[in-house]
Amino acid sequence: MKIIDVLNSGKVSVSCELFPPKAGGNFSPVVQAADAIAALRPDFMSVTYGAGGGTSQNTVAIASHIQNDLGITALAHLTCVSSTKDHVAAMLDRLKEEHIENILALRGDIPEGMDFPNPRQYRYAFELIDEIKERGDFCIGAACYPEGHVECKNKAEDLDHLKEKADRGCDFLTTQMFFDNNVLYSFLYRALLREIRLPVIAGVMPVTNQAQIQRICRLSGTSLTPKFKAIADKFGDNPKALKQAGIAYATEQIVDLIANGVRGIHIYTMNKPDVAAKIMQNISYLLEDTNGTN
Ligand code: FAD
Repeated sequence: MKIIDVLNSGKVSVSCELFPPKAGGNFSPVVQAADAIAALRPDFMSVTYGAGGGTSQNTVAIASHIQNDLGITALAHLTCVSSTKDHVAAMLDRLKEEHIENILALRGDIPEGMDFPNPRQYRYAFELIDEIKERGDFCIGAACYPEGHVECKNKAEDLDHLKEKADRGCDFLTTQMFFDNNVLYSFLYRALLREIRLPVIAGVMPVTNQAQIQRICRLSGTSLTPKFKAIADKFGDNPKALKQAGIAYATEQIVDLIANGVRGIHIYTMNKPDVAAKIMQNISYLLEDTNGTN
């Protein structure tokens, strides 16, 4: 099934994210996590793509397991900045062979010391969108950044670049995590003013350990709210308490998003079925109320 059809159905969709094993890594824990998350019947499950493409075959393998063995629509991430056009073409062929119809088209972070821009390779995600459109009938998603992408000097310019991805024909957008829903609402308003009319899936990250908090601050440019900082300060050294608080925080965000009309919720579940299960349980009656089923 194409994700755009789910997003256009009018119901609230909930999706979950997995990351594949590293090259040469152990598949079994990831497959177990995929199986347990699939049992929660999310609308789709996405599988990340390791920066540099090192896990590309593993992304396809896990996405294929989700789609073909577990019967859940899979969204395969694909990054291009460290890739050649031949490699991308081969990846698209592999995805077609596995009947995977949905791709999140990403540039990827520029590896340190990389000769960028390299004219023989991709520079931006919109070039990958062009390529995917040329090579098959895929449903294409792209990333967006409610607080602006870290490399971009201001939000207006970042929106111009997002508009370019929309104009190249991507079907939907998924946001970077955010911890203040007003940041998302303001972004949605500015996107509409910029005539970006695609469905936007809100990415919510249940923060469940200290290392995640440090990584978020270092890499994504996402701001932490005072409320979130207080939780991290108070419970940061107690893994169980931090996990409980992180799940509660993410649940509260999702409740507010659904109450305010957001239809696509993507949970950055990070191979943690217990976290996904708790959040799904916390919002089950909201989904029943909105979608008419549980
Ligand atoms: P782009 O849309 O190409 O934008 C990158 C930067 O270039 C932005 O600052 C943009 O404003 C600017 N830009 C765009 N077009 C132009 C132009 N024409 N001229 C000048 N500047 C321009 N990374 C992974 O490695 N694997 C993953 O699986 C993965 N999944 C992700 C999922 C989501 C939902 C999100 C939000 C991010 C994900 N990332 C992933 C991280 C992502 O790869 C990085 O944030 C990357 O730095 C940007 O990717 P992009 O596709 O948004 O790039």
